[in-house]
Amino acid sequence: MRLVLVGPPGAGKGTQAQFLAAHYSIPHISTGDIFRANLKAGTPLGIEAQSFMDRGELVADSVTNEMVKDRLTHDDIANGFLLDGFPRNVAQAEVLRAVLAEKQTPLHAVLELSLANEEIVARLTARRTCKDCFQPSVGVDKCPQCGGDVYQREDDKAEVITRRLEVYQEQTAPIISFYRNEGLLITVSALGEVEDITANAISALNRVSE
Ligand code: AMP
Repeated sequence: MRLVLVGPPGAGKGTQAQFLAAHYSIPHISTGDIFRANLKAGTPLGIEAQSFMDRGELVADSVTNEMVKDRLTHDDIANGFLLDGFPRNVAQAEVLRAVLAEKQTPLHAVLELSLANEEIVARLTARRTCKDCFQPSVGVDKCPQCGGDVYQREDDKAEVITRRLEVYQEQTAPIISFYRNEGLLITVSALGEVEDITANAISALNRVSE
């Protein structure tokens, strides 16, 4: 299964991506996590991405596209992949389409997690992230997944959230129509229990892959 997960910040893409990737036995490729891992390791890519990330702006397409193209050459995507956080604008969506067309491995579906703005802000300001594995959590001091320390991402602070939502509306939301026109879009509500959202997503995805 070759999947893209799209939705506003705070819709739970990272959480759903983990469950869906496990369900379909495909790697979860999060561009945000790759940037954060590079930042933690102090690589030139991480250093370049940091100022954009801290301000809630998109990292340049040239940098992001190359990073994703490289990731899509790894052997572990033989069964498919789940892209989380990429594409983030129509230009990236076009690059992805071209890269996959060249490999003759087009996307099977694009899953949109939809959520109202008020709910997004409430979720993001409460969110903490693990310093080691980047797992998001709420109301805990230690990561429920690996026991690492948690912190509030610079871009989960109220001022930056407003900008991230603007960036989402202006730059990312247009990919929803792009994928609807391609006949690939599936929309699932991001409200409710995590397990219910995963179950809804899987039954909708199974319908398209039948
Ligand atoms: P995320 O963890 O998906 O919320 O991403 C965190 C930040 O990483 C974003 O606010 C951007 O600064 C950067 N980023 C992640 N994915 C992309 C992308 N596809 N294009 C540009 N910047 C990205």
